[in-house]
Amino acid sequence: MLRPLADDRATRTAATPVPTTTAPAAPAAAPHFGFDNSYARELEGAYIAWQPSPVPAPKLVWLNRALAGELGLDAAALASPAGVAVLAGNAVPEGAAPIAQAYAGHQFGGFSPQLGDGRAILLGEVVDRLGRRRDIAFKGSGRTPFSRGGDGKAALGPVLREVIVGEAMHALGIPTTRALAAVATGEPVFRDSVLPGAVLTRVAASHLRVGTFEFFAARGQTELLRRVADYAIARHDPDLAGRDGRHLALLRAVCARQAALVARWMGVGFIHGVMNTDNTTISGETIDYGPCAFLEAHDPATVFSSIDQLGRYAYGNQPRIVQWNLARLAEALLPLIDADPARAAQQANEAIDAFPAQYRAQWLAVLRAKLGLDDAATDDADQALADDWLQLLRTHRVDHTLGWRRLADAAAGREAPLRALFGAEPAAVDPWLVRWRARAAAADPAAWAGRIAAANPIVIARNHRVEEALAAAVEHDDLGPMLRLLAALERPFDERAEDAELAQPASADFSAGYRTFCGT
Ligand code: AMP
Ligand code: MG
Repeated sequence: MLRPLADDRATRTAATPVPTTTAPAAPAAAPHFGFDNSYARELEGAYIAWQPSPVPAPKLVWLNRALAGELGLDAAALASPAGVAVLAGNAVPEGAAPIAQAYAGHQFGGFSPQLGDGRAILLGEVVDRLGRRRDIAFKGSGRTPFSRGGDGKAALGPVLREVIVGEAMHALGIPTTRALAAVATGEPVFRDSVLPGAVLTRVAASHLRVGTFEFFAARGQTELLRRVADYAIARHDPDLAGRDGRHLALLRAVCARQAALVARWMGVGFIHGVMNTDNTTISGETIDYGPCAFLEAHDPATVFSSIDQLGRYAYGNQPRIVQWNLARLAEALLPLIDADPARAAQQANEAIDAFPAQYRAQWLAVLRAKLGLDDAATDDADQALADDWLQLLRTHRVDHTLGWRRLADAAAGREAPLRALFGAEPAAVDPWLVRWRARAAAADPAAWAGRIAAANPIVIARNHRVEEALAAAVEHDDLGPMLRLLAALERPFDERAEDAELAQPASADFSAGYRTFCGT
């Protein structure tokens, strides 16, 4: 296998387009993307030009028309045979500069110096209708020089899981990459069983990750590291461009974004499942919906991922883990932060040590919104009130989503639905409700309830519903359950009678036995 990016010189050689697979140019009716590929243009040496592998029988399974519109793309052209050929990787559209990006990463705490896009290709970048630069990338588009032992492919089920959960997160207002399309390839993918193959088209604010910086830092390629960092600044923190101290400021900005992101995850009970540093973005978007899942009964120790045997990425560990990942970013940035290693280390440490307070502030803001509280009381008092509520949920194994949501009913004077969640001990929540009401001193209960409902979803991508939708799509070629679930997830804060079933928790048995898997 070609060992990519062995040194700067080899990198430059490897970065010239030498694909082993060639795709024909797209036919005339192909969709127009208007690509502007800054990564390929500015970061030579940080990627390998590479083409997606053609697939035998592409079939469009799902297209995100709303996102296509946001990107200024013609959905009808994307859904046409020429468009599907592009989305399958069978035709490279005009203006694309397909590349496989280099990155490293700490996986479950251990460092892998070379990961990279082993089953992904960045097709190019477009500037969307709001002027935001967005990556358009494939996942499952065949082997690349970074594939190591992998086949470079993705199976339909995990591709559709990424569609569903990404759209759900987006509708919740949580920063996330999003799926533009899912195309079945007509090719089998060999995992534990034989599965239908698929290609996901993913849209991201960028695919820069902590592991991107680790890659160049570990190789001692400081100048390339600096170019990548300045590229990240131009893309995500343009106010810092050209300033002294900008690389430390970049670290702080990433810390701030990740603190906000993980606090939002914790609010909705999202468990990422594989928070390796290669899955921690610089943009602050959620990325890589592999073994992710949502909490049912509130319990910080919850782990669903089959490969997370020690519970490293348990729900309650996520804030600490993201700080650990940010410390890896800090280490990678050291040579840019200060020429004097001791001073660089001290400044980086200060930034990382500031993270817990940064996170606590974000988490308290999330909790206050969910409790329908302003910031009139002290932080400590409100945190204690929220902690006692979370402890109640935990002690009584209350469903995280419904527990929070039924506070809106309680605020409006209907306490029965909330008390019913406490099983044999409905009165257990009463003393806390008294404190909460006293703190809120809501002049207008209906308005208070409305604020709480707007901060606490009723419909989330419940694990059993996601599995049900994926089984129908993959095993029975029936997209109905997935489309119905997506429609409900689009409006997660609206309580509608027709979605009542989707809002219900899984049985305790289902959740106790539920396991998620990595393999996209
Ligand atoms: P992930 O756990 O999905 O974030 O992937 C971690 C690393 O494994 C990345 O470098 C991926 O490109 C690589 N990888 C995962 N699955 C495959 C596959 N089927 N073929 C090639 N590379 C893969
Ligand atoms: Mg990944």
